[in-house]
Amino acid sequence: MFRKLLTLDEARQVIHEHFEPKPLGVEEISLTEAHNRILAEDVTASLDIPPFNRSTVDGYAVKAEDTFGAEENKPAALKIIGAISAGELPKIAIEKHEAAEIVTGAPMPDGADAVVMVEDTEKTDNELHVYAAVTKGENVMKAGSDIRKGEIILRRGQSLGSREIGVLAAVGIAKATVYRVPRVAILSTGAEVTEPGKQLPPGKIYDINAHSLSAAVAESGGKPVYLGVIPDDKTALEQTLQHALVSADLVLTSGGVSVGPKDIVPKTLDALGKPGVIVSGIAIKPGKPVTIGLVGEKLVFSLPGHPASALLVFHLLVRPLIQQMSGAESKQGFTVKALAATRMFPAKGRRTFIMVRMKKNGANRLVAEPVATGISGAITTLSKADGFVEITENQQFIDADEEVTVHLFGYPESDWC
Ligand code: AMP
Ligand code: MG
Repeated sequence: MFRKLLTLDEARQVIHEHFEPKPLGVEEISLTEAHNRILAEDVTASLDIPPFNRSTVDGYAVKAEDTFGAEENKPAALKIIGAISAGELPKIAIEKHEAAEIVTGAPMPDGADAVVMVEDTEKTDNELHVYAAVTKGENVMKAGSDIRKGEIILRRGQSLGSREIGVLAAVGIAKATVYRVPRVAILSTGAEVTEPGKQLPPGKIYDINAHSLSAAVAESGGKPVYLGVIPDDKTALEQTLQHALVSADLVLTSGGVSVGPKDIVPKTLDALGKPGVIVSGIAIKPGKPVTIGLVGEKLVFSLPGHPASALLVFHLLVRPLIQQMSGAESKQGFTVKALAATRMFPAKGRRTFIMVRMKKNGANRLVAEPVATGISGAITTLSKADGFVEITENQQFIDADEEVTVHLFGYPESDWC
């Protein structure tokens, strides 16, 4: 089945020819549900923020010129004519040599153009002594100085985090129009695979892939839908895949794609509908047996069972698709330059990905050190690796101390960057 492997670039091309990843429609949601969702339209402010000139301190609203020359030994004396609270429009106006008490966030009264901080004043009966001069506009936030009415405040494709949601709330928007989150069905295959939390019978292993892939799907902007572990049984697999295809936008399976007698996933997938399997293995290491099918308009990625291989193939092929389907601005993963800690060899004729851990050497240079090379079954490969180094099909090797580009799985970390 793997006689004629596609190169990674050819496989990407085949996917591209069959499937156009695009957002799946929009929905309106309340701000309380908006975290991590992707905006489906530009958002324009329908009002100025702040909506009025407001004080940024507790103190006294004054005409700045009335305080000019005031200092510690020579206070300016002003008449206090009232007080202004937050949340209501002032009913008073400031004339020459007058002041009004004002709190942080309260609207400025007419006639006043600055606020003296309470710390720089002293109050005696109805008189105010000002011990420091203020300039025009001091301690006042002008209407529209934060956000101007008509300004585009957020753009389509932006992810809504705490700051963006705060901006929406600032302009009074209670609902956001966002893209629908792609639903990604995830199922594991294999008679030996057992769900975590259950007793582990002899000869069995716990299901890693469904859980690491679920997290990877969520990190990419999709919603993982866990469909459980399916034994190596054609009928059960067929039924679950059919259910996955109708209930999800993309399907991920893991295991059962090698050339063993129980590796029934490719055949089952191919029989589910047209066009069926479009990629039967890719010349990469790890991850060679990955099988990709298209049933109707839905893609099914059947990833290898080895956890590191499954996650690497996800990273190379699936993550970018989920990101595009989620409507997010396209985000390249982080890369960093580092020195190869040792000589790294590619597998013959295959694009090779060496999992590496980042370190600093004595000269404070970043070094990429291979972890557990060649043992794609080891889960610790994953937990120890910060990213991978790619060696192309034509490269003989990467020499020790050669500069390499490391593709990070997550963000650069403070202990080595
Ligand atoms: P397979 O592709 O089914 O031959 O699986 C390759 C290797 O990965 C075998 O050692 C499996 O036991 C292991 N494996 C398969 N599925 C999982 C899984 N969901 N979690 C952890 N290991 C798995
Ligand atoms: Mg298996």
